[in-house]
Formats: sequence, C-alpha cells, structure tokens
Amino acid sequence: MENKLGNPKNTIEVIQKYEFAFQKKFGQNFLINTHVLDKIISAAGVTKDDMVLEIGPGIGTMTQCLAEAARQVVAVEIDANLIPILEDTLSGYDNVTVMNADILKVDIKKLAQEYNDNRPIKVVANLPYYITTPIIMGLFESDVPIDNITVMVQKEVADRMQVGPGSKDYGALSLAVQYYAEPYIVANVPPNCFIPRPNVGSAVIRLTRHQKPPVEVHDPALMFKLVRASFNQRRKTLQNGLNNSPEIPFTKEQIIAAIESLGVSASVRGEALTLQQFAQLANFFKS
Ligand code: SAM
Repeated sequence: MENKLGNPKNTIEVIQKYEFAFQKKFGQNFLINTHVLDKIISAAGVTKDDMVLEIGPGIGTMTQCLAEAARQVVAVEIDANLIPILEDTLSGYDNVTVMNADILKVDIKKLAQEYNDNRPIKVVANLPYYITTPIIMGLFESDVPIDNITVMVQKEVADRMQVGPGSKDYGALSLAVQYYAEPYIVANVPPNCFIPRPNVGSAVIRLTRHQKPPVEVHDPALMFKLVRASFNQRRKTLQNGLNNSPEIPFTKEQIIAAIESLGVSASVRGEALTLQQFAQLANFFKS
C-alpha cells in the first residue's frame, strides 16, 4: 500500500474530513515529510520479524510505514478523538493494534510478552515533547526487553542525550541515557516537516540498548542520586553539591575521601565527571 499520509495534501484532507482540532496539551505535531519517515524506519532497522511499539500514532502517518516494515505494530494513543481516524487510515493493515491509553500508564512489559514472546521490541515514535524524558526513562528503568528506541525529540534534548563532559548540555539526562544505551543522532528535522509547525527544532535519535551497562556499578540507584546531587547545583563544586544534598547520607570527610579516590582535585565540578567516574564514586561509597 502506498504511504499516503506522508503527503501533506492527504494529511490536510483527513484533518478536514474529521474536523480534527489539534490539542497543544498532547504535543500534537504531525509529520508530513516522507523522507523523514523513511529515515526513521530505516534507522530503527525494522524488519518483518519485529514487533514495534509506536507511542502517539496521531492520524497514523508513521503507523502506515511501520505496518509495512514490521510483523506487528502496537500503537498507543491518548487522544480519543484520533481513534476513529486511525480506524479509517489503518483499515488496510491487519498487523496493527491501536490502544487508546496514556503510555505512562501502560504495562509495556505485558505488551512485549503478549505480542513478542518477551523478545526485545523496537520502540519508534514521533514523541509528544512534553513527556519525552519520563517516557524514555520509564522504558529503560522498567524491565521491558528493548532492542532500540528510535524517536523524534526536541533537538536540544537529543543533544543533551548524546554529549559527554565539557559541554554545557551535559547533565543527568546524558548520564542516564548513556548508562542504558548508545545514543546516535540520525537526522535534524526542521519545523516545516510538521503540521502544525513546532516552535523548536527537532531531531531523530536512536538509542541502542546496551546488552550490559558500559560501567560496573554495584548500586545504580546510588550512582543516580550522586548524579542528581551534582547537577542540581551545577555551579557548586562536587564536594559542596554532595554535602548540600538531602539525598546523600555521607559525611563531609567521606565525601572528600571519595572524590580523592578518583584522583581529581577536591574543587572539581560534577559536570567534569564521566559516567565511569560517577560509577567509581558510587562504588567507593558502597565499599
Ligand atoms: N506519530 C504522529 C506523527 O508523527 O504524525 C503524531 C506525533 S505527535 C508529535 C505526538 C502524538 O502523541 C499525538 O498523537 C498525541 O496525541 C500523542 N500523545 C500525547 N501524549 C500521549 C500519552 N501520554 N500517551 C500516548 N500518546 C500520547
């Protein structure tokens, strides 16, 4: 079946036919560029073996492409007004299940079990930007078997996920994402590829799940507490950041000893530490 909705004319026709009113609160910016759609599907490496979870199918633009490339697509859409439209635009496919639900409340592990025998799924989406971080962290922190997450996000957020120490964009999100996955920015996407146009630039990023975390850390929850404490007070030294944080139960002396164990100056800032160093810090406290 030809990829109909990637064509802006067809998208506008569907929107008019159903008198669909875009809801800003749901982050509704629909893709209208076939090159970008092709790029996303090919970056995700979707094959006829795969089950794909699509978050926020909208009117089904990307869902049509996914249905052609994958074995099974499960698409979760929060906006009830889009469900009758999806029934129409996806009527030609028998391998798509649409669920009307909030993705943050869906048991994705159960979906992977039901539709993919618990084998790793692929997550592909043009994400609603207002909940990018909870969606991605939720996917990583739950036990969902995942091969990769290939998503459209705000450009600035894609940059934050990809950078290392020394960049102003480096922060808790960079470290969390890089602990779980290998990020790769596939393409930058300008506002004119969407209807309506968003106020920000966008980017497609692929997060390939690590089989095993790249660092050995005995207590990941403690490491992420240290990360949060360091970046909450970005302009303070690491030592002060950790001392001032109610989440960190260690004495000033223990904190100094831990920082010294890294072989860095006591006045170092958290933003200078690599993932490996945060892991070492957490392991020092644990020992
Ligand atoms: N995939 C479509 C496309 O590319 O044209 C639409 C993408 S649009 C940026 C985001 C979609 O996510 C919208 O359809 C919106 O209604 C949906 N959405 C927003 N919040 C959601 C949530 N919590 N759970 C599921 N879907 C959500």
